[in-house]
Formats: sequence, structure tokens, C-alpha cells
Amino acid sequence: MTRALGGAPAMPGTVHLVGAGPGDPDLLTLRGARLLETCTLVATDRLASPELLDLVPDGAARLDVGKKPGGRGWTQDEINRLLVQSARGGQAVVRLKGGDPYVFGRGGEEIEACVAAGIAVEVVPGITSAIGAPSAAGIPVTHRGLAAGFAVVTGHEDPTKPDSQVDWANLAGFPGTVVVLMGVGEIGRIADRLIAHGRDPRTPAAAVRWGTTPEQQVVEATLADLPAAVRDHSLRPPATIVVGDVVAMRSVLTSTPALLGVA
Ligand code: SAH
Repeated sequence: MTRALGGAPAMPGTVHLVGAGPGDPDLLTLRGARLLETCTLVATDRLASPELLDLVPDGAARLDVGKKPGGRGWTQDEINRLLVQSARGGQAVVRLKGGDPYVFGRGGEEIEACVAAGIAVEVVPGITSAIGAPSAAGIPVTHRGLAAGFAVVTGHEDPTKPDSQVDWANLAGFPGTVVVLMGVGEIGRIADRLIAHGRDPRTPAAAVRWGTTPEQQVVEATLADLPAAVRDHSLRPPATIVVGDVVAMRSVLTSTPALLGVA
């Protein structure tokens, strides 16, 4: 049996939680595109590419519920309520989120709220920046002989806090690539923490800002030197930090710049 790529249209009374991919609008899934083209309301966050809104029909409502860092934006409760009420009112809702909706995207909370309210939901995975940003910078998160696995953690909180939810001591000894999202502000303490717990300070490391987009910027250094390099380049969020021997693969892969187009 064959079927049209992209599948059924967005359904009235339903919330479709769609991953927008890491930045380049071309990295949206076909399913995501189909839903954007047929929704009646789209609620976006600040990491989803604004160009994706070109797919949305003229008559559809567009809401930017992105929470600006530090600024007053929509609270999570307000977003949850908006999704539930819009679906109840018969809208075909697309909730568009950067990367994959379930990777530090609070997608789980939105789905919980919808399910608790009896609203039909669909989750459409997206390419997470945790893999997509390193990949676009020429860094494979796994590589035979270099890393047999990878761990993705949040760097949002102060890693020296005794109640830190990330076990940095364990992570320092993790035999694979460590990928940190939301870690630019804490990069100094994160590097110190990993080194203090035994990670080799000479481990190759990189920070990739706005990966997959024309603004992509890559800063590469040893783990010990990465905080200074990030500072020297005034690298700001959003950036993905990668720590591991796989970062050294960049030199191999970027030797074909015409194919990769990396900085
Ligand atoms: N759900 C998203 C992550 C949300 S948390 C995903 O799966 O990608 C936000 C963090 O993601 C940012 O602070 C940054 O660390 C990372 N990020 C998002 N887009 C990025 C991009 N284009 N390049 C590099 N990092 C990015």
C-alpha cells in the first residue's frame, strides 16, 4: 500500500506537537510541513525558524509564545491553557518547538495538560540540536573507536550546586561524548567540574552556535581552554557544547568544506 508523504492534515480539536528541527527550515519533517500547511492556529517558540511560518495558511492564527530570556513572556501554565482552550474551540493546533519537542522543550508538560483535559494529541519528532548542531559542524556524536555513545544534559543550572540534577562526577567518567545544551552561561563551571572529576583537560571540545543556520559559528578548543575561547569569541546562546574525542573528527570532515559549508 502506498500513501502520500506527510500523511493526514491537521485535525480540528487536536494539538499537534511538532519538532521544528535544529534551525535550518529545510530540516523540518514532511509530517511537520503537512501539519503546518493545514493548521488553523500555530503557537511557536523562539528557536523554531520564523521561515516555517510561510507554510501556514493565510487565515490561520499565529502566536509567538517564546519565552524571552529574562523578559516577561508566556508562562508554561498560560501556554498549556492556550493549547487546551484552542483545541476545545475546534482549532487544528500546531505547537511548533525548536529541535525535538521532548528534548528540554517542556513538550511533556504540554502533552500532560492536553491529555488531562481530554484533548487529542499527536507528537511529531524533530531533529534535535543535540545531534544536528554538532553534525552540521562536522562532529559525529559517535564514531567507531572514539565514542560508543553520547549523553545529553542541561547546562542551565549551576553545576556546583549540591542539589544539581546532573551528576557531573559520573558524567566526567562517562565513556563517550558529552553534549550540553543551554550551557554557555555556565561553561566555566561545567569545564571545571568535568576536569575536577577526572576528565582529561586536553579532551577536544567545541561550542556550536546557531548550528545548521547561515549564522552558524563554531568555537573549538581543549576542554580546559573552551571557557576562554567562548569568552574571546563573545559566543552567546543558543549554542550546543560538545566534549569528547569525536570533536577531533572535525578536522577530517571539514577538509571537504564544499560539502559541509561550515565556518
Ligand atoms: N528541544 C530543543 C532544545 C531546547 S533547549 C532541541 O531538541 O534542540 C534550547 C537549547 O538548545 C539552546 O540553549 C541550545 O543549547 C540548543 N540549541 C537550540 N537550537 C540550536 C542551534 N541551532 N544550534 C546550537 N544549539 C542549539
